[in-house]
Amino acid sequence: MGDYVMNDMQKRIRQLCREFSLNELIPTSKEYDIEGRLNEDAYRKAVEIGFTKIAWGKEYGGLGLDTVTQVMVTEELSYGDAGFANVMVASSLAARPVLMAGTEEQKQFMADIVIHGGKAAFCLTEANAGSDAGAIRTSAKKTEDGYIINGSKCFITNGPEAEVYIVFAMTDNSKGVKGISAFLVPGDTPGVGHGAHEDKVGIRQSSASDVIFQDVKVPFSALLGKEGEGFKIAMKTLDIARIDCAAAAVGIAQRAIDLSVKYAKERKTFGKPIAKLQAIQFMIADMEIQTEAARALVRQAAELKDMGQINSKICACAKAFAGDTAVRVATDAVQIYGGYGYIRDYPVEKLMRDAKIFQIFDGTNQIQRVVIAGNMLK
Ligand SMILES: Cc1cc2nc3c(=O)[nH]c(=O)nc-3n(C[C@H](O)[C@H](O)[C@H](O)COP(=O)(O)OP(=O)(O)OC[C@H]3O[C@@H](n4cnc5c(N)ncnc54)[C@H](O)[C@@H]3O)c2cc1C
Repeated sequence: MGDYVMNDMQKRIRQLCREFSLNELIPTSKEYDIEGRLNEDAYRKAVEIGFTKIAWGKEYGGLGLDTVTQVMVTEELSYGDAGFANVMVASSLAARPVLMAGTEEQKQFMADIVIHGGKAAFCLTEANAGSDAGAIRTSAKKTEDGYIINGSKCFITNGPEAEVYIVFAMTDNSKGVKGISAFLVPGDTPGVGHGAHEDKVGIRQSSASDVIFQDVKVPFSALLGKEGEGFKIAMKTLDIARIDCAAAAVGIAQRAIDLSVKYAKERKTFGKPIAKLQAIQFMIADMEIQTEAARALVRQAAELKDMGQINSKICACAKAFAGDTAVRVATDAVQIYGGYGYIRDYPVEKLMRDAKIFQIFDGTNQIQRVVIAGNMLK
C-alpha cells in the first residue's frame, strides 16, 4: 500500500500484515496453489492475530476498525496470496447482509462464527443466474413454522466448508426481484449439501463449489430483514464488497510490480540489466501508474463508506479499474520475466492466473460498466 495518509495504527497494522504475508504466505504459496487447498496453519494464525475481527464492531467481539483499515489488510494479505485472502473476503461478503439487515441475535450468531475463523458463504449465483442475478430459481416456501428452501447455487466461495450460508431465494415468484428474500442458514441444517471443489485456474487456496438445498427447513427467524428485500440486500452488499475485492486486486498488482522491479535489476541482456532499457522502465512506470490509481479509487470508495456514503458508481469504478489493472500488471510482469515468466517455477504466472477472477466475480467488469453508466445516465 502507498505510504500516503495513514495514521500510526494503520501503519502498524500494515506492517503486521506485510510481515504475515512475507513469513507465513509467500514461502508456501506455490505449494498450496498446486495442491489447490488452504494453508490451514496460516489461516489459524491469521485468526489468532485478529484479521477476522477487523470489520466487526466491538459490541460483537470485533475490533471496530474502519473500512480504510479493512481494505489495507485485504490488500496486504492478497499481496501474500490472493486465494488465501479470498477465504476471509468471502466470509465478510456473507456477513454483510446480516450486518445490514439482521437482528441483533443474527449479527451475534454470525460474528461468533466468522471472528473465530469459521467460514461463511454468500449464495446468490445459480447456473442460469450469474450477471442476471434476479433470475434465480431457488425457492423458499412459507409454511406454518418457517420456510422450506429448495434449489442449487454454483461457484460459491467457501461452499464446501462454510458453517453458515446466506441464501437468496424466491419467496414470491410473481413479484420478480421483489419476490426474492435472504436467509441465514446454518451449515449443519439437514438438507444442506455441496458439490465437488471446482478446479479453478487461480486463487486456488480458496474453495468454490455448488451448494445444494434440498427441503431445507428453517424457522421464521432465519429470514434477514423482511420478505422481498433480498435482492436489494444482495445488491447493496455487492456495492460494499466491491471495495474489498478491488483492494485484493491491488495487492496482486503490487506484488507483480515488486517482483518485476527486482527481476529487472538482476536479469542481464546485451551485457546490462534489463532495468536500464527504456522499454522495461516505461512498462514498470505504467504498472505503477495504474496500480497507484487503482489504490486511490479503492481508498476513495472506502473513505466514502466510512463517511456513511456508499457510492455504487465509485465502488464499481474501483472494482472494474482494480480488476483490469491487476490483469494488465500481472501480465506485464510475465512479459518482463520473458520466457521464465511463463514457467511455473517463477512466481509471476500465478499472479496472472489469480488476477483474472477479479474481472469476473462480484459482478463481471462488464456489469460494473453497466452500473457506472446506469448511475451516470439515469
Ligand atoms: C471462483 C469464483 C468464485 C465465485 N464466488 C461466488 C460467491 O461466493 N457467491 C456467489 O453468489 N457467486 C460467486 N461467483 C459467481 C460470479 O459472481 C459469477 O460467475 C459472475 O457474476 C458472472 O456470472 P456468470 O458466470 O453466470 O456469467 P454470465 O452472466 O453468463 O456472463 C457471461 C458474459 O456475458 C457478459 N454479460 C452478461 N450480462 C451482461 C450485460 N447485461 N451487459 C454486458 N455484458 C454482460 C458477462 O460480463 C460475461 O462476460 C463466483 C465465481 C467464480 C468463478
